[in-house]
Amino acid sequence: MISCTGNKEDKPLAYYGRFKSIPANAITPKGWLKQYLLNQRNGLTGHLENAGYPFNTQGWAADSITGNKSIEKWWPYEQNGYWVDGMIRCGLLLNDTFLLNKARKSIYYVLNHPDRNGFLGPKYYELDKWVYVVFFRAWMAEYEATKNPGILNALKKHFLNNRFPYTNIRESINIENMLWVYYELKDTALLNYAREIYKKSNEMFKNSQVSDISFLKDSTAGGEHGVTYLEKSKLGAILYLYTGDSTYLKPSIAAFRKLDKYNMLIDGVNVSSEHIQTPTTQESHEICDISDYTWNISYLLKATGDASYADKIERAAFNAAPGSVTKDFKALQYFSAPNQVIAARNSNIRDGGGTMRYAPNPGTECCPGNVNRMMPNFAINSWMTDGKDGLVAAMYAPSSVKVPVGKHKNIIIVDEDTYYPFSDTINFTFHMKDKNSFSFYVRIPGWCKKANILVNGIALNQTITPSSYININRKYKEGDNVTVILPSDFTITDGPENGKSVERGPLIYSLKIKEDWKTDIHDERSTHDFPAWELFPESPWNYALCINRENLQQQIKVVYKPYSLNPWSIENAPVELKVPARIVNGWDLEKKTEMKFEHWTVERDARGKVIRWYIDNSTMKKGSWLFSPLLPDAGMLKKGLSNITDTVTLIPYGCSKLRITVFPVTGNF
Ligand SMILES: [Zn+2]
Repeated sequence: MISCTGNKEDKPLAYYGRFKSIPANAITPKGWLKQYLLNQRNGLTGHLENAGYPFNTQGWAADSITGNKSIEKWWPYEQNGYWVDGMIRCGLLLNDTFLLNKARKSIYYVLNHPDRNGFLGPKYYELDKWVYVVFFRAWMAEYEATKNPGILNALKKHFLNNRFPYTNIRESINIENMLWVYYELKDTALLNYAREIYKKSNEMFKNSQVSDISFLKDSTAGGEHGVTYLEKSKLGAILYLYTGDSTYLKPSIAAFRKLDKYNMLIDGVNVSSEHIQTPTTQESHEICDISDYTWNISYLLKATGDASYADKIERAAFNAAPGSVTKDFKALQYFSAPNQVIAARNSNIRDGGGTMRYAPNPGTECCPGNVNRMMPNFAINSWMTDGKDGLVAAMYAPSSVKVPVGKHKNIIIVDEDTYYPFSDTINFTFHMKDKNSFSFYVRIPGWCKKANILVNGIALNQTITPSSYININRKYKEGDNVTVILPSDFTITDGPENGKSVERGPLIYSLKIKEDWKTDIHDERSTHDFPAWELFPESPWNYALCINRENLQQQIKVVYKPYSLNPWSIENAPVELKVPARIVNGWDLEKKTEMKFEHWTVERDARGKVIRWYIDNSTMKKGSWLFSPLLPDAGMLKKGLSNITDTVTLIPYGCSKLRITVFPVTGNF
């Protein structure tokens, strides 16, 4: 029997992670980050009902959704759950009453309407209980900010009074919420329950790509659903946080290492279209995977304190994330890619459809929900503690943080002033009443070989190693200043089809293509204020870069533009690179007049619950499609390469909405 009372005799339980999260409302975003979140507030995060169903329903703020028209009845709960989670976090960061009230309507409706056993949320017990994880993440953020004990007690009852097996493949992810409640309440029944679910789920799905033993195999997870893989792969790291047992942690580490080795795209997120695949220059990721990759890998950062995980989060947050959303945060892509020179109704190579358009609701409705979580979660995870009384600047962006530090837990404020990732200097200023000794950790990214740290203008007398956190442990006083300088060099990275990409520090660079924005008047899930867009290229994009790996500083000219609080568009790109390039004649959009379509069928049980989806047949259809092409092969490159060398402009990936990021090259590699 599981006891709901907990064991008061237990000592407070340890937290085994190297780093620990900070409540969202302890962090105040500034500069471009604040503006990005304000755009979210004024855009889709604050007004997602403009994207139509299911965001114009009651969502979680009712016993059931009137007119639930999804094929899978749990979908609108997942989709609205993502939204509420992103909204409450964005609201807490901005201290914005409008967002907080709107998100809290759903949170407190469910909190105030448990059933007689304490079960929370919609009473369709056949719903895939994965959807609760998504929604309860919003409760985690709300509790950490408000310390409302009702949240913890309600969740404890929900889990322990209603012993569901949580056996479906994504249902085991409930242990994320369960372990969080366990730590807050120190009730070992929850820990034991979570361990049991993890073990059973691994046994049941041992032959899938998402079991602990499969994660440990050095082979691609190709074919697995991207979201399922990312969500499942972090569970071991979470169990490690609360047990210190490294047998839990190892499969999580291996799972993300495999993505790096076999499935990673240049912009920092794995191929997930929607399944994990081998990268090509026509492959893409679903926006859900950008949100989920950064969220899930943050648990590995907390577990290990390994700076390389923070580098990965920054890479996705500064490149893939802003590159898949319009600058006003009113439209997003379902699938986005490093090479996308067209984003129209007929340009997604997987299904021939319009999921690469920028629209409020361009495909299945998960992504318009999940997009709201990307930048708020980056902002929240940018500051952490060391699990004791020290402060960690885990990732960099303009902000300030108010936290208790040192032996006496005195509250201090640290201002972080920077234009990072567009500049290499980060300035921290400390504000406090009394002098205070504590650890302050700053990160040296793996790409930075010549970092400098100044304390009150004087170089820090410590070894500074790339890909590490440097502990500046000293007695701090009001007005103290720590400056981190991270000079970056150009790097050329190998990609699919012998393509190469240009990187510099945390940013990946893409060809600046003149974008022709056409309103998609046929889109039924858009409004006058929240339009859908098709994007067409209005300038040549078929360039090969004329560079080689040696002396890149001499080959590439850097141009700095005026500072903008809204940097994520081609007109406001704060940095441009001028690079020699030549047109490749014959490298054009891929035209198709016939395409194979897979027909998916749903198998249901007698009660109408979905058992499985399967492809029952494929048909060839005629039509007119235009796709971003693969890179030219050696023959085309030789035959089509122009004799004239132009100078092209590259801009940060996140500023581009059409782009080439993986280029053919003429240089000697
Ligand atoms: Zn999605």
